[in-house]
Amino acid sequence: MTHALRLEAEVLNLKTRHPFIIARGGESEYRTVWVRLVDKDGVEGWGEAAPAKIYGETTETVLAALQAYGAHLPADPFDLEGAEREWEKALKLNPSARAALSSALHDYVGKKLGVPVYKLWGLNPAEAPRSTFTIGIDTVEKLRLKVLEAEQYPVLKIKLGTHRDREILETIRALTDKELRVDANTGWTVKQGLRMLPILEEFGVTVLEQPLPATDLDGLETLTNASDIPVIADESCLTAADIPRLVGKVDGINIKIAKCGSLREALRMIAIARAHHMMVMVGCMIESSIAITAAAHFTPLVDIVDLDGAALCSNDPFAGATIDGGQVRLPTGPGLGLSRR
Ligand code: MG
Repeated sequence: MTHALRLEAEVLNLKTRHPFIIARGGESEYRTVWVRLVDKDGVEGWGEAAPAKIYGETTETVLAALQAYGAHLPADPFDLEGAEREWEKALKLNPSARAALSSALHDYVGKKLGVPVYKLWGLNPAEAPRSTFTIGIDTVEKLRLKVLEAEQYPVLKIKLGTHRDREILETIRALTDKELRVDANTGWTVKQGLRMLPILEEFGVTVLEQPLPATDLDGLETLTNASDIPVIADESCLTAADIPRLVGKVDGINIKIAKCGSLREALRMIAIARAHHMMVMVGCMIESSIAITAAAHFTPLVDIVDLDGAALCSNDPFAGATIDGGQVRLPTGPGLGLSRR
């Protein structure tokens, strides 16, 4: 088959300012894959794959999957819907690899039309909510340092799911009156969750993300019913197909392009969650400004934004959407509006 585009892939080695630790563990070095779709005139669309082991991907699987997808590049790049369908047909799963291609194709099409992706979708960038900035699990001394370093961010997301969750909240609340949201990353049992709810309320926590293991939907329902704090499903909600069974079990869902595999699937998830009166959050992996910016383009449609992945890194090679002072700001250039730093 002849096609107008050529696929290029390059591994990015990202470093976080501090080791980024959540309930499952963590590290300070993360490898993602920069994907470029290039046409014969040299016009390039960019995307990024941030593989997560819990969703079955590594840098190596992404590179292998891209080889397979490379044989199915669209003859007509403007057929975004058809292109994504062909990729999923060619090789299922591998969501971060497909998200990178989806982002790159949207970037390319926006550039060819001379409009930003948010404009293709008819969105107003001024409606983007503020983003949280994440404080990973750490010692009391390091937590204090991180809260001071996060001075410019008005809303903090605190990683919990340890045996010292109360101490973590106490340490942070002693230093700041900011809005606090928490994410236990599947780290609690229902019993621990029920014990933690009054503590979260005591410290004024406003959002509780994924308190229980991904498959414990009845447990999530118990916590949702017991809590005035909205409960958001992250690890329990990968794609649109996961949403119907979460209705009535949680208050909202967290969309990540590396989980759902495409920008168009992210838009479908927003529509389906809204049809069920659910809250919508957009989150991220540790990734550069490429993947962050791709997700930032649909933030005018969501309630909660957590797009700090690039802000947590010390060597982001790219510039795009920013969360300076917490406010999501979209670049106004065509496509995703990305550039090299
Ligand atoms: Mg989460």
